[in-house]
Amino acid sequence: MIYQGTARYPVSEIVIHCSATPPGWMKGQSLAAKRAEIRRWHVDQRGWRDIGYHHLIDRDGSTLPGRPETEIGAGVEGHNRGVIHICLVGGAGSTADDPFEKNFAAAQDLALRGLLTEIADRTAVSRVSGHNEYAAKACPGFRVLKWRSRT
Ligand SMILES: [Zn+2]
Repeated sequence: MIYQGTARYPVSEIVIHCSATPPGWMKGQSLAAKRAEIRRWHVDQRGWRDIGYHHLIDRDGSTLPGRPETEIGAGVEGHNRGVIHICLVGGAGSTADDPFEKNFAAAQDLALRGLLTEIADRTAVSRVSGHNEYAAKACPGFRVLKWRSRT
């Protein structure tokens, strides 16, 4: 199991997000540079202590960790304890009901499925959801339940 914070909340859910950036955002730059930029939005603009997400997935399917999984993240207002937040790079102008491939690359589809499996190997995941299930938002720009039911 993965536990978060000093209260040791067990991680039982994964919530998927997007960075709401256009497909060519910071093209040619490393995912580390993109992570630094997203972190800047969260720290400088929102006043959080660190990037809100635990994992990032770039357009080419590469991944990088964000906030440590053992710390409570910041992704859904009032719903962060025991949650791992994953952010897909992209998704600008998306709606909640878009098909995954309208806003994201095939490499991201593969990487996200792999990351979900890898996390589920380390903690008892009982729910995988999208930010749009908790707020009137497009984020992540597709319906996670529908996307997961595809093979
Ligand atoms: Zn979100």
